[in-house]
Amino acid sequence: MVLCPECESDLDVEEEELDEGEILSCTECGSDFEVVGVEPLELTKVSDEDDDDDEEDAKESDEDGDY
Ligand SMILES: [Zn+2]
Repeated sequence: MVLCPECESDLDVEEEELDEGEILSCTECGSDFEVVGVEPLELTKVSDEDDDDDEEDAKESDEDGDY
């Protein structure tokens, strides 16, 4: 049994069945987790909010060329 790192409810999967790169969704808190390691099991939270907005970030980051 695998517990949600966020709310500690049962994710209803078996640890032995997981592979690296798999995505688990918690039905309790709605979070998604990627399996980044299986021995020991390691989950990292997937946030799909940050990822697509590269354009806006690029604008802000060319303010000061300290290089
Ligand atoms: Zn949860």
